[in-house]
Amino acid sequence: MHFDQVPSELEAAKPILEKINDAGFEAYFVGGCVRDMILGQAIHDVDIASSAYPKEIKEIFQKTVDTGIQHGTVMVLDHGEGYEITTFRTESTYTDFRRPDSVTFVRSLSEDLKRRDFTINAFALAANGDVIDHFDGLTDLKHKQIKAVGVAHERFTEDALRMMRALRFASKLGFSIEEKTRDALKDLAPNLEKIAIERIQVEFEKLLMGQAAGDGLRDLVDVDLLSHMPGEAGMMSAEHVLHLAKHLDKKQPKTLPVCWLLYLGTAGLSADELQKELHSYKLSREIMGTVTRLAPIVQAPEKATVWDLYRVNDLSDALVEALAILEVDEAVRTRVRETLSSLAIRSPRELALNGGQLIKEGLATPGPALGNLLKQIEHAVVLNELDNDAEAIRAFTKEA
Ligand code: ATP
Ligand code: MG
Repeated sequence: MHFDQVPSELEAAKPILEKINDAGFEAYFVGGCVRDMILGQAIHDVDIASSAYPKEIKEIFQKTVDTGIQHGTVMVLDHGEGYEITTFRTESTYTDFRRPDSVTFVRSLSEDLKRRDFTINAFALAANGDVIDHFDGLTDLKHKQIKAVGVAHERFTEDALRMMRALRFASKLGFSIEEKTRDALKDLAPNLEKIAIERIQVEFEKLLMGQAAGDGLRDLVDVDLLSHMPGEAGMMSAEHVLHLAKHLDKKQPKTLPVCWLLYLGTAGLSADELQKELHSYKLSREIMGTVTRLAPIVQAPEKATVWDLYRVNDLSDALVEALAILEVDEAVRTRVRETLSSLAIRSPRELALNGGQLIKEGLATPGPALGNLLKQIEHAVVLNELDNDAEAIRAFTKEA
């Protein structure tokens, strides 16, 4: 396969390949950018692989940064863009199911392509537009399938994260998983437990945001990676995951907090169980906060009071998005949306009179009673029992 024209992101980086070629080394675009170009999809990062060793790359280019020199990666700065150039490498034995014991720089492209995970991720594109496809990835792209490079059992034994990656690429691209690759997933799923949670999290989030996220979740259950995900075994029921899959067939979450809200927050866990799961995934504070606060509402939106909704109004977008994905009854969703958009105040700071002013006007004295009073005022304003107006609040305070 040959491309006379390549997308602008790659065109812009061609001079880098040419400069390396002129110095007597090989250089190619590799990995996801070549796959996405062939698929006609947007390219987000441009990865370059070269026969030149890091030291040699640094001699060719004036401006470089050692971004991952121990793995052979040097970043070249060109016209304000940074391009990562990684020396061709092979990976030696894996004794821990996740990291090669050592990486060895090599001069051969084919050795480098052999260590890549899937055939559709093992293309290289030369500066002249030729696509190098040693593992028949083009056929797999055509058949829309995810197939391991070489023997799937070996590849997943080397690095168990690849199993999660198989599911995430299937979800992202809307591909199916080739039979032998699937068999290997089923046999080796328990090895996922050896993988750092943070790395699983990244792949799982991409799965949930993929165009075929529903299939991704069904795969998770089918090959039983579900039992070996972070968190307590058995906490996430297959039933919940398959149910969520049906919703994700129609609509996918756009943000990470919503992904986790749907996955963990609608699983019917108790508050304690939910906290344990959130912690075991080592999620960010923002995500944990969103899931914790919205889980009770998304699980029973028809019961949410005006006060409940007021308390989460800073998370309106996530809530509305989650309810839409869960296909909650239209009347309930309308009420939630309308309540949120017509709140009298969004926070106590918006009250027409604050504690300091009440004290100054002699309507209150500092102390716990003031806190109570302010809560009552806030409550009454939110429930529309009291106008958010200084005069009305004064009157309310005198009565209280
Ligand atoms: P995305 O578009 O999501 O970034 P990508 O294909 O670029 O997809 P990356 O995770 O950025 O995926 O990895 C870049 C390339 O590195 C892959 O295409 C693949 O060739 C190789 N690769 C990454 N992780 C692994 C792994 N665990 N095992 C083998 N090869 C890998
Ligand atoms: Mg990438």
